[in-house]
Amino acid sequence: MGGAVRGPLARELDALPLVDHHCHGVVTADLDREGFESLLTEGDPWPGVSPFDSPVGVAVRRHCAPLLDLPRHAPAEEYLARRAELGGPEVNRRFLTAAGAEVFCVDTGYAADRLTTPEELAGTAGGKAYEVVRLEGVAEAVAAAGVEPDAYAEAFLAAAHRAVGRPGVVAVKSVAAYRTGFDLDPARPSDAEVTEAARHWLARGGRLDDPVLMRHLLWTAVGLGLPLQLHTGFGDSDIRMHRVDPTHLTDWLHLTAGTVPVLLLHCWPYQRQAAYLAAVFEQVYLDVGLTLHHVGPARAAAVLAEALEITPFRKLLYSSDAYGIAEFHHLGALAFRQGLAGLLQERVDADELGLPDALRIARWAGRDNALRVYRLPNLLAENG
Ligand SMILES: [Zn+2]
Repeated sequence: MGGAVRGPLARELDALPLVDHHCHGVVTADLDREGFESLLTEGDPWPGVSPFDSPVGVAVRRHCAPLLDLPRHAPAEEYLARRAELGGPEVNRRFLTAAGAEVFCVDTGYAADRLTTPEELAGTAGGKAYEVVRLEGVAEAVAAAGVEPDAYAEAFLAAAHRAVGRPGVVAVKSVAAYRTGFDLDPARPSDAEVTEAARHWLARGGRLDDPVLMRHLLWTAVGLGLPLQLHTGFGDSDIRMHRVDPTHLTDWLHLTAGTVPVLLLHCWPYQRQAAYLAAVFEQVYLDVGLTLHHVGPARAAAVLAEALEITPFRKLLYSSDAYGIAEFHHLGALAFRQGLAGLLQERVDADELGLPDALRIARWAGRDNALRVYRLPNLLAENG
């Protein structure tokens, strides 16, 4: 595994127009060293330690430098100087074009004011944009606008319906992982419980992190009828990693069976737990976005291999979860294509998998599974 695999699977995946089912916009302004490095890491930059000296940092220097006309492994200083010389729009154009995605489902819920809009992002890449609505943002806007505690549930539902009714919205997302974790009571809270919790939250203010209101949000999401994306596992230091193992959702998944698709995003280091859920619950899907560029092409095949140990082949999706810097759109796509091609080719070479099956799995994961879940059948290939 690893290295340049040039078999039929590499050719298939290199040419496949990907559906990036969860990503964010990129910064439009030029970035100085501090700005770039702060986007390179999920942590906070530490004094005297460059985020370039990390797996994702060396992956950027290895795989992104050539797109800026630099040699592979160019030093960070040269990389940043060349990036500044070309300017943000040209850098974004090069990486977004190289990513080769045809569809971008863009989460607009986090610091979107400094990022490209979904249309700008997809326009630069020559692709098509859809939007993912972050429900915590909807709830917080309802609170900010002012609402009585006993009217909160109805106001949130109405606002959520308005948000998903906008053209191009294909999914909703929750960051419950960041706010409460998943070790919640799985039952739908009663009206009285929601009113009481809303009373405390509305008086206190701040972001939505009340466990009763988070349960209410997740159950409201189920009622909206759209696929629900859940941040899972890896993220910044707001995460309490032991509380975001997706198997905490098991009872909730039993209770919500037969409703909406649930897409577990990122998953690392719980890709095996997520794979288990995808194997036993019809409605569960997963990706290893974000993980792919942070581990880099060097380890993407290993992470994908764990995710695919038991995941049914119609349940794995591609996402970059790129945020802020266009490098991550390119790096995510590259790591996915190379990693999946490497591990599928290995199975074909070992005669564990027939080549036509392997090619089909590659197309499903990179594209067709997402088109099916998000009901974008007009983009489906004939053999999808
Ligand atoms: Zn994201």
